[in-house]
Amino acid sequence: MSSSHVLVLNCGSSSLKFAIIDSSSAKEHLSGLAERLGEASPQIKYKVNGQKHIISLSNGDAHEVAINKLVELVKSLKLDQQLVAVGHRVVHGGEHFTKSALITDTVLEAIKQTANLAPLHNPANLLGIEAASAAFSKLPQIAVFDTAFHQTMEPTAFLYALPYALYEKHGIRRYGFHGTSHYFVSAQAIEQLGLNDKPSKIVTAHLGNGCSVCAVKDGKSVDTSMGLTPLEGLVMGTRSGDIDPGLFAYLVNQLNYTAKQIDTLLNKESGLLGLSELSNDCRTIEESAAEGHEKAQLALDIFCFRLAKQIASFAVPLGGIDALVFTGGIGENSDVIRASVLEQLSFLGFKLNNERNLAARFGNEGVITDGVSVPTALVTPTNEELVIAQDAAMLAGEQ
Ligand code: ADP
Repeated sequence: MSSSHVLVLNCGSSSLKFAIIDSSSAKEHLSGLAERLGEASPQIKYKVNGQKHIISLSNGDAHEVAINKLVELVKSLKLDQQLVAVGHRVVHGGEHFTKSALITDTVLEAIKQTANLAPLHNPANLLGIEAASAAFSKLPQIAVFDTAFHQTMEPTAFLYALPYALYEKHGIRRYGFHGTSHYFVSAQAIEQLGLNDKPSKIVTAHLGNGCSVCAVKDGKSVDTSMGLTPLEGLVMGTRSGDIDPGLFAYLVNQLNYTAKQIDTLLNKESGLLGLSELSNDCRTIEESAAEGHEKAQLALDIFCFRLAKQIASFAVPLGGIDALVFTGGIGENSDVIRASVLEQLSFLGFKLNNERNLAARFGNEGVITDGVSVPTALVTPTNEELVIAQDAAMLAGEQ
């Protein structure tokens, strides 16, 4: 059988997540994380055959060094001969990309042009592409975009009620993110619920450090909670989600904030962290709330209330809800949050099955509502790396 191993890279400004995945069997042969790149004491942590290892790098070593070390590692593990492609996660594809793309000079230029919409993410993704193209020069490089799945949204869902010229001249609109995850878990749910070739109305809730929900109608994204940037929508670990845009002028005029300070406030100091004054980590928030920490409880309550409201609102673009899928670190692990959200959505017909909800982890994921009740709620582990590997192997095969 021919090999379909793909090196999957997710490059951040100071980190690089990597994996080698067989796109046919979904088997992961290597996975790891290079962290603190360009800073003090950078290192590469990786796992192969269940064993964990660490490679220490020198102070200031950045992406290029990390990728060259990765090449050595891949060769020493004799995994290089089986690779058919390198798949890159790219956060923002703007309106250029409605699906994954083989990276050519034109594609690279389009990703660069989109960098102004994602200044924190796309430049880092480009570093990964450049370093991997040099290190694995014989392999096709493929870009898989977080925004691509949402390009099926209609203008009613993606336009802000701003002067139209801001959209036409500057591309200011809602794009949505986490598309690879929303695609993967909605496709899994459609399969699991036997809705292939049938109309389906599914809401997917990707709840990790960043959180977003997506309305998926007949397999296509028709609305999502994130917008121009990954700040819009739900309460997240450190991000505020929706706020009154009038807050900007208030912070500037009354409290002398600069644009940079507002950006930091809304992206890094808000959400669960800002409300609880304790942590952005959902586990800590849940544990502290259970011990009587009032602000942790309040943060949790607001997180669940806003999430439930947003999910219910997607009954409009979908014309009802057949199923709700929970995924991401919080969605896959927090029975407390799932129970609270489904309780608040019981008016839509959700009937939580407590036992299933508590058991839904470590391979026991699946339906958490009563067997016969519609709508159904499910826990479905996401696998963005597998989607990247599959798209990359497919596009590499088409060359
Ligand atoms: P990222 O968005 O960075 O990929 P994850 O999807 O791994 O993040 O999600 C991280 C979040 O998942 C953190 O808030 C973490 O506290 C939360 N989480 C992980 N395990 C649990 C758990 N058992 N209960 C509640 N929250 C959890």
